[in-house]
Amino acid sequence: MENVYDVIILGAGPAGLAAGLYAGRSRMKALLIEKGQDGGQIAITEEIENYPGQIVDEEESGPSLIARMSKQVEKFGCERVSDTIDSVELEGDVKKLVGKKGEYCAKTVILATGAHSRPIGCKNEAQFVGKGISFCATCDANFFEDLEVYVVGGGDSAVEEAMYLTNYARKVTIIHRRDELRAAKSIQEKAFANDKLDFMWDSVVEEVGGDEGVLAKMWVRNVKTDEVTEIEADEDDGLFGLFGFIGFLPNTALFEGQIDMEKGYIVTDDDMRTNIPGVFAAGDLRKKSLRQVVTAAADGAIAATQAYKYVNE
Ligand code: NAP
Repeated sequence: MENVYDVIILGAGPAGLAAGLYAGRSRMKALLIEKGQDGGQIAITEEIENYPGQIVDEEESGPSLIARMSKQVEKFGCERVSDTIDSVELEGDVKKLVGKKGEYCAKTVILATGAHSRPIGCKNEAQFVGKGISFCATCDANFFEDLEVYVVGGGDSAVEEAMYLTNYARKVTIIHRRDELRAAKSIQEKAFANDKLDFMWDSVVEEVGGDEGVLAKMWVRNVKTDEVTEIEADEDDGLFGLFGFIGFLPNTALFEGQIDMEKGYIVTDDDMRTNIPGVFAAGDLRKKSLRQVVTAAADGAIAATQAYKYVNE
């Protein structure tokens, strides 16, 4: 079967890149498809200090880790294409992926499209995304140099990214819906010792606004007292920043109706097999208990190894 790959990997985050590495090393005819930049959420994460071998210092960040992973995939001969896939046909012996630039066929497919940030969920949110509201501190922190910034969430991401934002902003306030952080204790200790970091407990952002098309107002409700506080940008500043880090939603809409999912997450067995023979899933889009770079990479390695077995059996 000419022009039919042994394996197509969809998505070049840590899961897809690990799958590409293992597929390349096994000498499968492999293709890795990514629509944007490599790395997924890691490409926009400044500090990764819990991936084995990654020691955080000035040289090391999420993007530097991903750059090394991408280079390694290239070294072992996995083909690459930049394309956005619009539809997939996963049943049958030959799977078909249809993109904006072309059609791609393979005996096996590894789905590794990851997840995206959960929206804050307040009124008028969409209107101010990119105009004060952001979901990426690494990308947007410098826009808020010496301004006030608010961060929604209480997990590892919210607290770590809030600390990163204190390098730029005049003051950073974490708005959390409970009175206790979910973040790891080691991360919390650093946060509580940071003078530029403040907390609004038991609070949720209800609505955002601003007259000049930029974020300059918001209404925050205390969930225990129901009291609503109006927050306004300092007159000299004219705007403030609002960053959302309240978890992620899986990027699985493309596979809906074809593959078994639970709450949008793809269900697999321990070998990354989905309910469709020859279709595997790896990384954050999978139903599992721990979503980290290390587990995504492990998923990718297992998926590629199983794809190899499937092709050769
Ligand atoms: P997370 O652990 O799921 O935390 C989400 C936070 O957002 C929680 O504090 C949650 O509040 C809050 N939240 C959820 N929905 C909300 C809503 N609708 N309105 C307001 N607040 C809401 O997400 P994450 O921090 O992004 O982390 C995701 C995964 O990546 C976790 O496994 C985490 O450990 C990992 N991670 C690890 C590191 C690290 O180890 N260095 C860094 C980043 C992420 P409640 O606490 O009340 O539920």
